[in-house]
Amino acid sequence: MSIHASLTDSHCHLDKLDLTPFGGSLDRALEAARQNGVSRFVCISVDHSNLREVCELAEQYDDVWATSGIHPLTDAEAPFEPEIIEHQAQSTSKVVAIGECGLDYHYKPETRPVQLERFEAQLDIARRLGLPVVVHTRDAVDDTLALIRRYAGQGVRGVLHCFTESWEMARQALDLGWYISFSGIITFRNAADLRETVAKVPLGQMLVETDSPWLAPVPHRGQSNSPQWVREVADCVARLHDCALEDVAELTTRNACELFGLS
Ligand SMILES: [Zn+2]
Ligand SMILES: [Zn+2]
Repeated sequence: MSIHASLTDSHCHLDKLDLTPFGGSLDRALEAARQNGVSRFVCISVDHSNLREVCELAEQYDDVWATSGIHPLTDAEAPFEPEIIEHQAQSTSKVVAIGECGLDYHYKPETRPVQLERFEAQLDIARRLGLPVVVHTRDAVDDTLALIRRYAGQGVRGVLHCFTESWEMARQALDLGWYISFSGIITFRNAADLRETVAKVPLGQMLVETDSPWLAPVPHRGQSNSPQWVREVADCVARLHDCALEDVAELTTRNACELFGLS
């Protein structure tokens, strides 16, 4: 792939990768991805225990950026400290978004009130700091759309990451100017409906990601995922849009740079 058409892994958990295939070295995992055409990595924080770690990691590499936020499935009993998220987001220019935050009623419907409160608090931080939001959403269509619509009206933009919901939900987020990001799930055999949605989402509003170490794409399914395999995700998008891999790389990287302000 040419230098103008490099890929961006818009959502990876670099602090959680299984580095065994890379001799225990994150340097080598990143190098393998670069060799595979990946030029930018957005490393996602999920709770108070790794907020600082992902920021430090981003400061070590020119091509890694970080987010600051708390995942919706984080222990609802654990303390939630929005001022720490906000402070961490301002601690380095390498923090490019708030998240991942959002709503997941698939695994923990009973924590809905806590999830809503935490999601809203993080949308508030994004609005105050003028940062985009990385949103995790599962089986929470109405609540997610209501909140992102309200905050979009106040200038907040973002991405629905690892998208697995309906085209109807995607369409409403796209209408708000938001982005949709797809992971290796789109390559899974049982994901025919999702592939129909991928085909409808315009490349001008799409990102690609690995969500590594989870969700390794076909033909690596079952292995621990790493950013090098974002190429398999982009390949699948190219097939569904009947275009070249280079086109998907160029557009999704342009989108990631635009949304997150990556250089
Ligand atoms: Zn997620
Ligand atoms: Zn994630």
